[in-house]
Order: sequence, then C-alpha cells, then structure tokens
Amino acid sequence: MMKGAILVISGPSGAGKSSLINEMLKRCDDVYFSISTTTREMREGEKEGREYHFISKEQFEKEIEEGEFLEWAKVHDNYYGTSLKPVKKALQEGKLVVFDIDVQGQKIVKRKFSNILTSVFLTTPSLSVLKERLSKRATDSKEIIQNRIKNALLEIEEIKNYDFLIINDDFQKALKELLCAAKVARLKTSLVDLENFIQTWKEG
Ligand code: 5GP
Repeated sequence: MMKGAILVISGPSGAGKSSLINEMLKRCDDVYFSISTTTREMREGEKEGREYHFISKEQFEKEIEEGEFLEWAKVHDNYYGTSLKPVKKALQEGKLVVFDIDVQGQKIVKRKFSNILTSVFLTTPSLSVLKERLSKRATDSKEIIQNRIKNALLEIEEIKNYDFLIINDDFQKALKELLCAAKVARLKTSLVDLENFIQTWKEG
C-alpha cells in the first residue's frame, strides 16, 4: 500500500548536508538519492555520477529546453538541476527519494509533489560557525566563499517553508534527527491508500 515519498533537504553550503545525507543513506532502506546535474566545476575528491553529473552550460541549457528537468535553479552563478526520469522511476518503485537542493528548487518540487513531500532545513548554529566551516574547506576561493555567505543570508529567510529545522552542531545528534525525518516522511497519511486501508481494517 505504500507509495514513494520525497524528502527534500536544503540549507547553506557548508552546513554539512552532504556528509549527513551520506551517513543517512547508509542507514535507510528503499531510499534513492537524486543525483543532480550541475555546471559548476568538480571539487577535489568528487566523482562524475556520484555527487553530481557535471556538464557544460550549453548542454544544461539544451536539457532545459528539452524538458529534462523536474526543477532547476541558478545557485552561486552555476546551474543545478534535478532530472525527472530517475525520480519518477524511484517513486514508482515505492522508494524514499532524497533531494539535496536549494530553496528555489524546494519551492518547485513542493508545488509539484506537495502531498508526498517532507522538507528539512539544515544549518549551522550561527552565521559565524558557517563562515568558519566554509573557510576551512580549502577547495574554495575567497570570492566563492563570499558568494556562499551572501546566498546563506538569503536562504535562512526561507526556513518557514520547511517542515523541520535541524541544527548541525553535533554531527551524531543531527544525523539522528535526519533519520527521524526520513522515518516520518514515510508516515504521511497521503501516502496510504486510505480507502483500501479502512476497508481492510473493518474486515480484520
Ligand atoms: P554545492 O555546489 O555546494 O554542491 O551546492 C550548492 C547548492 O546547490 C546547495 O545548496 C545544493 O543544495 C544546491 N543544489 C544541488 N543540486 C541542486 C539541484 O538539482 N537543484 C537545485 N535547485 N539546487 C541544487
């Protein structure tokens, strides 16, 4: 009776989303991580098809025109987008589809899939902690870091559009909370064939 569900996770770059999501995925069954497509440069340690599909700006714009994306947005001057086909397939298979997308993407996905969507905003305890974490990530230039901080100040205003807020102060605590969110994402009544459930319940 269970149908697929969506868990959207957003929050400023540097809040620890990727590490938390990776640990969460290891501990969840029937889960599918939506690998986004981006035009940003590959970071050290990243691999094509694992963190992202890395493509050129021209190719991305072609795919927008061809309607390949469920949603796409420009973040920090680069394109990021979610391909529709693999998401549809995973939902049909009854999986929990996890998205790591920005606040613009969340709005679009929420509009399209409101009844099956749960959303989490994940952030550091403060702006100063975010700044500290971003400057420790040696891969990004000063300019990129500034851009990310500017974006974080805009993103933080969007918390109200999310179901849950997780503050990544203590990694293990944040992980536990994220796992709870993944659990409750599956408990929405809108995911259950209620007519069938009530009928079966009455007969039982
Ligand atoms: P990063 O460059 O740090 O990997 O990601 C930058 C931002 O882009 C993050 O906030 C991340 O959630 C967001 N992002 C990643 N993939 C997508 C996507 O497919 N769509 C949208 N709208 N945002 C994305």
